[in-house]
Amino acid sequence: MKILVLNCGSSSIKFQLIETDIELIESNTDRCIAKGSVERIGTDEATLKVTVPPNPTISVTEEILDHQAALTRAIATLKDCHAVADITQIQAVGHRVVHGGEHFSASVVIDDKVEEEIQNCVELAPLHNPHNLRGYFVARKVMPQVPQVAVFDTAFHQTMPGHAFMYGLPYSYYRRYHIRRYGFHGTSHRYVAFRYRKIFDKKREEANLITAHLGNGCSMTAIEKGRSIDTSMGFTPQEGLLMGTRCGDIDPAALFYIMSKDELTLHDMSTLLNKFCGLYGISGESNDMRELITASAKGDEQAKLAIEVFCYRIKKYIGAYSASLGHVDGLVFTGGIGENSPAIRALACEGLGEMGIQIDPDRNASMVGKEGEISTDASRIRVMVIPTNEELLIARDTFRAVRGIPNPH
Ligand code: AMP
Repeated sequence: MKILVLNCGSSSIKFQLIETDIELIESNTDRCIAKGSVERIGTDEATLKVTVPPNPTISVTEEILDHQAALTRAIATLKDCHAVADITQIQAVGHRVVHGGEHFSASVVIDDKVEEEIQNCVELAPLHNPHNLRGYFVARKVMPQVPQVAVFDTAFHQTMPGHAFMYGLPYSYYRRYHIRRYGFHGTSHRYVAFRYRKIFDKKREEANLITAHLGNGCSMTAIEKGRSIDTSMGFTPQEGLLMGTRCGDIDPAALFYIMSKDELTLHDMSTLLNKFCGLYGISGESNDMRELITASAKGDEQAKLAIEVFCYRIKKYIGAYSASLGHVDGLVFTGGIGENSPAIRALACEGLGEMGIQIDPDRNASMVGKEGEISTDASRIRVMVIPTNEELLIARDTFRAVRGIPNPH
């Protein structure tokens, strides 16, 4: 089945055309036929990029005034590049939807009821859900006969028990405003956990895992027998690890103190927390880990400190989630930093030998952007690098939801 995976933002659409079915999933040979993006939608300088491997990327800049025009143009280009013979070959659309609240614990075919529930979650993710929904409306117009499926970033974490998702606020805030830990990056954590079990031929019940998605946004998850039992992001993607531009865990009273000292508004504070903290904030120069590693090697003390805070936070969560799980079989690194940076993985795992984590320096150094083990043979916990593939999991979920096949993850 050819599935179009859409990730819709305020002025962009990212897409992948993926071929999948039961046999291809089983043999891990389902594949991306084409991928691309339309950016700066709403301007006369929108950029459409399409790659149909092995051909080089096509890039055009032109006027594209809304998301419907963008999707229509993207599909026409897929046809021009022979990725599809015509639009009817696209048999389903899978949408990345950031927030499913407490309502969605799995991917679902979108109907009027589901649409309403996603709408109800807009308050929880005002920067994302409206655009994800727009993707659905537009795809429905362009391909009215085609089933559409919502795959939620939060769904995987709905198995967290109350003691992991409740904050120490008055209970009424949970009841009235649904304030609790939701967690994000669920599709990525679920994908790498699934791959880990495939690689080691384990059933869900046979693997307790800690997964670390380290990209521009970062989160870690404790997975017990295939179920998320705790995760580091919270009510919003602000909590937990240090990130590119977000500070992660912080004493909330420090924020009031800054607001009163610098006379900041709520809006100012929100901008500060989203754009100027984390690696960028501490280093004072960049949110890009590659630049910080280079700067640190040249003696830049703030870049070095930013890296140390980043890795120490990961180590703390490894400790916390080891306690939550009781027994850990595997630790998985993924995301741009997790997949590509031996130095960060080594620093985050330094001194964890007593806890059963021993990194093999040669394996670690060679595992860049590919799947494989980086722990020593003697390490009790298998430490893995597994490149994430959220689009592939969205396509697989879409296929199963459309066919009514239960999800084995
Ligand atoms: P993502 O959001 O998953 O695309 O990840 C983006 C982050 O990955 C940025 O901080 C990049 O600097 C980082 N990254 C990508 N490649 C490398 C690398 N080779 N070494 C260190 N960090 C990297």
